[in-house]
Amino acid sequence: MPICQNCHQQWGWKQTVQKMFILDTGMICPHCGKKQFLTTESKKRAGLLNFLTPLVMLFGVLFDLPLSIILIMIFTSGLVIFAAYPFLVEFTDEEQALW
Ligand SMILES: [Zn+2]
Repeated sequence: MPICQNCHQQWGWKQTVQKMFILDTGMICPHCGKKQFLTTESKKRAGLLNFLTPLVMLFGVLFDLPLSIILIMIFTSGLVIFAAYPFLVEFTDEEQALW
């Protein structure tokens, strides 16, 4: 789980997932209220997660799986992305350029 770089408190899984829906460059720490930014490294890791769903679709098409199975796999991959995301992110005090 990510740790706030200002107050060094750990964010909960639920708090991190809630904040990931806010399409802002920074996320406000629930403990101290200071804005935290994702590190470039964790943005890259989160970006890789986004490839999971298209990969699953490609896999389903390549192996000629029934549509119902493909849909279940897509749904599962979505859950995996949500579950894994808070474990992959790291915070920094200052906003960094993406690359
Ligand atoms: Zn904090």
